[in-house]
Amino acid sequence: MVVRTVLGDLAPEDLGVTDAHDHLFFRSPLLPGQEVDDPDAAAAELRAFAELGGRTVVQWTPFGLGGRPQALVALARATGVNIVAATGLHQAAHYDPNDLDALYPRLTELFVEELTHAMGESDARAGLIKVAAEYHHLDPHARRTMTAAAEAHHATGAPIAVHLELGTAALDVLDLLCGELDVPPARVILGHLNRSPDQRMHRAVAKAGPFISFDGPSRANHATDWRLLDSIVALAEAGLADQLLLGADTTTARARAATGEGPGMPFLLRDLRPRIERERERGAALATKILVENPARAFAADWRAD
Ligand SMILES: [Zn+2]
Repeated sequence: MVVRTVLGDLAPEDLGVTDAHDHLFFRSPLLPGQEVDDPDAAAAELRAFAELGGRTVVQWTPFGLGGRPQALVALARATGVNIVAATGLHQAAHYDPNDLDALYPRLTELFVEELTHAMGESDARAGLIKVAAEYHHLDPHARRTMTAAAEAHHATGAPIAVHLELGTAALDVLDLLCGELDVPPARVILGHLNRSPDQRMHRAVAKAGPFISFDGPSRANHATDWRLLDSIVALAEAGLADQLLLGADTTTARARAATGEGPGMPFLLRDLRPRIERERERGAALATKILVENPARAFAADWRAD
């Protein structure tokens, strides 16, 4: 079992403190003028994260949204921070419909190619497959991309990371990926669940066995961000802390700490980690579990089709 970074495969125990869901590069027609596309700003953010003890960042930018794999290779070399990149597709609204029509027939092939050979013209391989659900439902595009993701998982062993729109539709995703398409629940990572801070739902989802990646704060999600610590503690008290991950999910240049207004990647280690450590008697162990031990299991795979 190894983690596939843009510089090569890494033993899980070498991952260290991990930002399990973030973006160094991201560009979408849905967010005009908010492109995250500056390698110098990305390097500054990675260095600020590393100064606080951060060792690995997982970029969830999927195919076609400006993920810049070759720039990730340069950033990993320049900063020493491990970077894991994603293949996969986001929601349909992020793409030109004509491009999607051309991609659909070869989606599985594209994902497998990026996981096992190279992402585009770069030297880097992807280490996970990112797909996306819709608000409280799965549309035909989501079903199509998740089916291809499951096929690519079965061909390669890669983990599948899922964008949950405002934290909804988690059980629908698990029904499809794990129920219909036979992906083991522990190979699925559900993102943004904390944006729907319903602790009964969180427990029901966690009991089905996936990893759950909670996000740090953002202006768009301020209404639910303050429940993050409660959500973490509630799952820990239910005995489900082994499945928890944390990411800063920086999707705008403004949200970067080093070059914008923050909170950015450093928030995870400067603000959130000490609060988790202080929260409970075994808080320090809980923080290590969430930031180090769980990501090592979530992102390690028994890679096939090399
Ligand atoms: Zn994201």
